[in-house]
Amino acid sequence: MLQLLATVLALTAAPPPATCTYDIWTWSVVAHRAVDHRHVSKPYSEITAEEKASDWSATGCTICREDQETVAVAGTPSVLVCRHFAPQIRQALQAAVEAGARIDKLVGYRVGRSGGPIVNGKRTQYGWHAFGEALDINPDANGLYGHCARKAPAPRTSAELAGCQRRIGGAWRPEDQPARSLTADGAIVAAFRRLVDWRWGGERTDTTKDLMHVSPDGY
Ligand SMILES: [Zn+2]
Repeated sequence: MLQLLATVLALTAAPPPATCTYDIWTWSVVAHRAVDHRHVSKPYSEITAEEKASDWSATGCTICREDQETVAVAGTPSVLVCRHFAPQIRQALQAAVEAGARIDKLVGYRVGRSGGPIVNGKRTQYGWHAFGEALDINPDANGLYGHCARKAPAPRTSAELAGCQRRIGGAWRPEDQPARSLTADGAIVAAFRRLVDWRWGGERTDTTKDLMHVSPDGY
């Protein structure tokens, strides 16, 4: 028992990695593509506030490759996510697959300045993906739509997206492919809400519906 306790304490107090490495790009809204690719390697002790997730004090999630863990669930592609969330994400993917979901593509950890204000035609801030705290699921069947009505509820049918414009990914047609689509009451979104306490990008209340995306707040 004491030995078990000692093991648990040792794991909890695991020292941080020596280095922080990551590959970063910046999204150009002018060129409509990622630009300024570079590789960063620095002492872990020198990571800045911007390189830590907003919930870092609770999760320890950072932009560093060293803080990511591979999740590999039978029937789904493997994916890199923040170590803190890896066990829950593993459970959610398993639950979704057992409930009949089909997951062909997953994108988790991905470091880019893809959000926030635009300066000189480029985005300036990191989204949740940069910290391994978001997944894009089956993007070819769950597109990102813009120019939707503000505060529109999560769509239930493709007809409800008629006023939006698809920007990234494939058309969302849950009527035709229910097993591969994310929906408010479907297996994938329900599993992530229940087991990870994450939200669906279809529930955003700004003018974007990011139907492939789940994260701590859906953004
Ligand atoms: Zn995403």
